[in-house]
Amino acid sequence: MKIIENVYGKSISYYKIGGIIRKIIYPETIKDVIIIFKQLLDSESKWTIIGKTSNILISDNGYDGILVCTTLLDKDIEIRDDEIYFPSGLESNKISEIARGENLTGFEWMSGLPGTIGGAIYMNARCYGSEISEICCKVIYLNHKGDICTIDADKAFKGYKDTVFQKEPCFILGAKFIVHKGDHRGIEEKSLINIEDRISKHQLDYPSCGCFFRNDYKSGNSAGKLIDACSLKGLRSGNAQISPYHANFFINLGDAKAEDIINLAKKARNEVRNKFGIDLVPEVCFIGEFDEEI
Ligand SMILES: Cc1cc2nc3c(=O)[nH]c(=O)nc-3n(C[C@H](O)[C@H](O)[C@H](O)COP(=O)(O)OP(=O)(O)OC[C@H]3O[C@@H](n4cnc5c(N)ncnc54)[C@H](O)[C@@H]3O)c2cc1C
Repeated sequence: MKIIENVYGKSISYYKIGGIIRKIIYPETIKDVIIIFKQLLDSESKWTIIGKTSNILISDNGYDGILVCTTLLDKDIEIRDDEIYFPSGLESNKISEIARGENLTGFEWMSGLPGTIGGAIYMNARCYGSEISEICCKVIYLNHKGDICTIDADKAFKGYKDTVFQKEPCFILGAKFIVHKGDHRGIEEKSLINIEDRISKHQLDYPSCGCFFRNDYKSGNSAGKLIDACSLKGLRSGNAQISPYHANFFINLGDAKAEDIINLAKKARNEVRNKFGIDLVPEVCFIGEFDEEI
């Protein structure tokens, strides 16, 4: 297992933002994870599990605690006739590539999706009309006592961006997926369309955490549309900007501070509240102490 100490969040995070983190542990085997997780559960220290941090904003004040990063837990893939197992640290985009290679359909929407499968399960990731809950059949995880558990998907996923894993401390080890054979060319075409759509919408030009706020579907409009209706696209705070292409993407133009992102989020939330009476709720996860609330 690899351990690094006193490292800047901005040097390890997808957002390229964040102050000094006390310790980051990278387990390489399930055995490592079981030992580390039990120690964390018994320790006084603050701790958080991270994947690729593509849905996380780390404070400029850093994190006086331990991060356990899953990105080296990307081996041990098991492909069987009826189901396939992916370990938590494997990237979602890589999974869509593997599925494509095996002519398996259902994973095309993950093409170009940043982050790991562990993060996607934790967040119940979704896009292009699909959701991870629809293809996953079981999740294997360590529960709040450190015991290995298996949970069926219908009990694990609770709806829009909601899962049981968000309710109590846990470590997602991996997940099993239903196998559906498909036509190679069809799978390839669909995957390519999704990647090209992200590129054409400039989603990958600058670091971000994807959509900052959750969509409030009761209002009938996405958070991005509501923010755009307040004419906030392009607004800057320091080196952070509300993307000119997608109003729910708050991008880091280069060396932005978490504080800049928070300023933009506050502005967007206030304007949407004043104009529409809707209270936007962040989708992004926060690590560390922030001087200001959104
Ligand atoms: C450009 C861009 C586009 C995006 N587009 C989409 C999109 O279309 N749809 C979508 O749903 N999301 C999207 N996202 C958000 C993000 O990619 C997903 O939520 C992704 O699945 C997060 O994976 P991650 O490994 O980066 O998780 P992280 O950001 O590292 O973690 C996210 C949360 O999951 C927890 N977590 C991660 N791994 C584990 C684990 N093994 N066990 C327990 N908890 C864990 C973390 O503690 C944290 O709370 C986008 C992000 C970016 C930057």
